[in-house]
Amino acid sequence: MTIKKLAIGLAFASLSGLCANTALAQGELNIYSARHYQTDEALYAGFTTMTGIKINRIEAKEDELLERIRNEGANSPGDVLITVDASRLAKADEQGVFAPLNSALLNERIPANLRTDTWAAFSTRARVIVYNKETLSADQVATYASLADPSLKGKVCTRSGSHPYNLSLGAAMIKHLGAEQTETWARSLVANFARAPKGGDTDQIRAVAAGECGVAIANSYYFARLMNSTRPEDIKVIESVGFVWPDQKGNGTHINVSGAGLLKHAPNKEAGIKFLEYLASDDAQRYFADGNNEWPAVASVKVSNPALEKLGPFKADPLPVGDLAATVAEAQRIFDRAGFR
Ligand code: FE
Repeated sequence: MTIKKLAIGLAFASLSGLCANTALAQGELNIYSARHYQTDEALYAGFTTMTGIKINRIEAKEDELLERIRNEGANSPGDVLITVDASRLAKADEQGVFAPLNSALLNERIPANLRTDTWAAFSTRARVIVYNKETLSADQVATYASLADPSLKGKVCTRSGSHPYNLSLGAAMIKHLGAEQTETWARSLVANFARAPKGGDTDQIRAVAAGECGVAIANSYYFARLMNSTRPEDIKVIESVGFVWPDQKGNGTHINVSGAGLLKHAPNKEAGIKFLEYLASDDAQRYFADGNNEWPAVASVKVSNPALEKLGPFKADPLPVGDLAATVAEAQRIFDRAGFR
């Protein structure tokens, strides 16, 4: 054994010794998280203060975490998986990584349309429409369907069609309109593109402000983040663009979520459930949602976020987030065929 390997071995031995001691004293919880916001730090600290349970956190991209969980199999130390987007949670569920979620408290606190048998949403975000106020008006872009109208030729910007945010929207459209109409919509949307999809949602908002696009789709928290920003360039962006809650006269604005579930092979199942229930508590809800300009999943919890307040109330699509799982793969096939890549 080389010196280096020995050193690593020793470090591991002392680390696992330490963990074992802590586990005996207070319990531990291993969280795999694909949600990385700085404000989540205080959330984890709050749980440890309240319960004495130490949190070990592994942060990585969703796909890496899923691969890791699969590779670790029954030996996985992971207790809880936290991630964003309904279609990603659905994918994790499809791969069978979650344990059944049996919690009377979660059933009581989290609305039925925001949870499934294996995972629960802890915050919501909306997929909204942003337009250039100089070139377009709100009534021209009031619905997702309007983005496919020939009058918007060369004006529409969006991130990739294979991104989960757009796939979840597509999955919801299939539920409401059927596959055929969703494909017609996707084809006409692609025909309206100002440029090939690139960048994230914030890039689309900036491109709308710069006049490169007339209209774009973005998640509400990206818009709220720009609204709450004090940077002169962000203030300028917000001054140039208008904001629409889509489909207010129809199904309501498409809602997506951040969510979490207990992992099937969780060695600390009890601590895992305790943590998920903690996420549904008033304080944690406020923190979890507000830290990323989202809304709490628990209806009675209110955040005071200046940007969200300014955007005002809206009608949200009540479609159960768990239902999106059934049509998300079809949404991907439709987008592929339509050239929405
Ligand atoms: Fe995002």
